[in-house]
Amino acid sequence: MKMSKMFMPTLREVPAEAVVASHRLMMRSGMLRKLGNGLFTYLPLGLRSFRKVENIIREEMDAAGALEFKPSVVVPGEIWRESGRWETMGEGMLRVKNRVDQELVVSPTAEEAFTALLRGEISSYKQLPMNAYQINTKYRDEIRPRYGVMRGREFTMKDAYSFHADEESLDETYRAMGKAYRRIFRRCGLSVIPVKADSGAMGGTGSEEFMVESEVGDNNLILCPKCGYAANDEKASCAPDPVTSGPGSAPAGKAFSPVETPNVRTIEELTAFLKTVPQAFIKTLVYRAVNSELDLSSAPGCAKLDRVTPASSPAYYPESFFAVCVRGDLDVNEVKLAATVKASEVELASDRDVERLTGAPVGFAGPVGLSSVPVIADLSVTAMHDAVTGALKADLHYEHVEPGRDFTPWLTADVRTVKAGDRCPVCGDAFYAKKGNELGHIFKLGYKYTKSMNMLYLDENGKQQYPMMGCYGIGVDRTLASIIEEHNDDDGILWPMSVAPFQVAVVPIKYEGAMKDAADRLYAELSAAGIEALLDDRNERPGVKFKDMDLVGIPVRIVVGDKNLPNVELKLRSSKDASLIPLEGAAAKAAEIVRASLAELSAPSGED
Ligand code: ATP
Ligand code: MG
Repeated sequence: MKMSKMFMPTLREVPAEAVVASHRLMMRSGMLRKLGNGLFTYLPLGLRSFRKVENIIREEMDAAGALEFKPSVVVPGEIWRESGRWETMGEGMLRVKNRVDQELVVSPTAEEAFTALLRGEISSYKQLPMNAYQINTKYRDEIRPRYGVMRGREFTMKDAYSFHADEESLDETYRAMGKAYRRIFRRCGLSVIPVKADSGAMGGTGSEEFMVESEVGDNNLILCPKCGYAANDEKASCAPDPVTSGPGSAPAGKAFSPVETPNVRTIEELTAFLKTVPQAFIKTLVYRAVNSELDLSSAPGCAKLDRVTPASSPAYYPESFFAVCVRGDLDVNEVKLAATVKASEVELASDRDVERLTGAPVGFAGPVGLSSVPVIADLSVTAMHDAVTGALKADLHYEHVEPGRDFTPWLTADVRTVKAGDRCPVCGDAFYAKKGNELGHIFKLGYKYTKSMNMLYLDENGKQQYPMMGCYGIGVDRTLASIIEEHNDDDGILWPMSVAPFQVAVVPIKYEGAMKDAADRLYAELSAAGIEALLDDRNERPGVKFKDMDLVGIPVRIVVGDKNLPNVELKLRSSKDASLIPLEGAAAKAAEIVRASLAELSAPSGED
């Protein structure tokens, strides 16, 4: 491609909202423009790299035995009602009505679309397993789109859905997808950290996320330096804490007793008032669960709840309340909590609900004598002794509380947020933490969609069965942006060869006379060798040309200057040094560099 025929409007200044390197560089190098909030246009240069990422994903999915489909992006609302997600997807799902008032959805994901398609096609175990994928537009009405295409509203996702006759088959595909993902990211030049992830209330049995480290990452990764344990904090667990005693530990058998705490509500106020430490408190929070599958009214004293019993999916309770106890210095992790109560989401109860249910203003809830809601105790609480808790009355707390003796939780579960410094449950070493961005996610779904959407096949004995399902997603745009995040310097992008928009830049100091002839020759030879070359035939100062090429990040550069001819200058974007080589053979040399670099990125590794 000749630069004069290309459209790559480079910028010196970028909008203030471009705060991360990838967003700035995609704008500055003329890859991307914004059309609206979370809505972007890839310009020709950006699209070249985008397509390369897409193709790497496609090649690895095909190699792993998945089959590409191309469903519509707009799908009937009806199938979302069938799965039950019409109600639970919330406002992130864009719903529209057409001229005859038909409800339509702009796909945020496609479990429903693939299940609806394949239930009409798969009728026998002989057709299983099947792994179907698309690389297609998604829309999510993100509240706060940010960091350019990292979190857009419209974006492209590769999403695959697999269907199986048994769990072993699902496990096999799940493992194959995990391997394919590792290869995809390696070929893109990305260092990813696979972590254990939350499989939520979806009935899933396994889930792994592929993360890149990022200062602006939305995920907290909990990592063990010794044994390699790695998990999203939405899933991470830790070794039990040593049994803690309250300060001035009460002699065994001392009964709990009230202590007046006028206007003392927060843990900070309490520790100051009682001259103790946060670890001595049992913090009690009241939560509201949305669409929980657990009957949280089965605890004694709870008011009976309304239950919804859809034909095929499990019964659920649209709204229920419960209390959670955790050691005073720890935080409750709401994703772990939602998974524990099998709810689509949990949120702190309103002040009014807290008062209604505990009989006391906010700040005085406690598990002793609390019967209007079930109490879930974090594992940290079961290890406590001689604790302080709210006493379900304004301005009053209890001291010398013994879990187990003075209250019995309805359920004991791991719901705390694990942090750096907590101990690894596998080897006991201290965790460290990193912030990460999720690029991909693989997930065992089980029967959630095949049951709710009634997808059946006949097994070997002619008996009707629901297939098991897995799903596997990668964000194409976010992967592209993350490559730039990992490969840039003060001057611009440093593309890994596999995803560079062009592989070699040919830059004549002036596009005239002998320099023009040499540049044209190099360009022709490179093109004939199948190398993607960009020839800067513009009438610009050399400094401008060099700056633009560095910004755009083309991995190999050949500069043709009249002083050097019949030699030319060969330089890698990743290196400061240039070498003079004869024009004769220069294209072959550049082609060799390109091929070696591509081969290195796609070489098998021990993980394959
Ligand atoms: P996140 O937690 O970042 O919102 P998610 O867990 O909702 O992502 P999935 O449903 O697992 O995302 O989607 C699979 C992949 O799609 C993600 O790993 C990510 O790469 C990509 N993705 C999701 N939302 C966006 C978005 N708003 N913009 C760009 N890519 C996205
Ligand atoms: Mg995810």
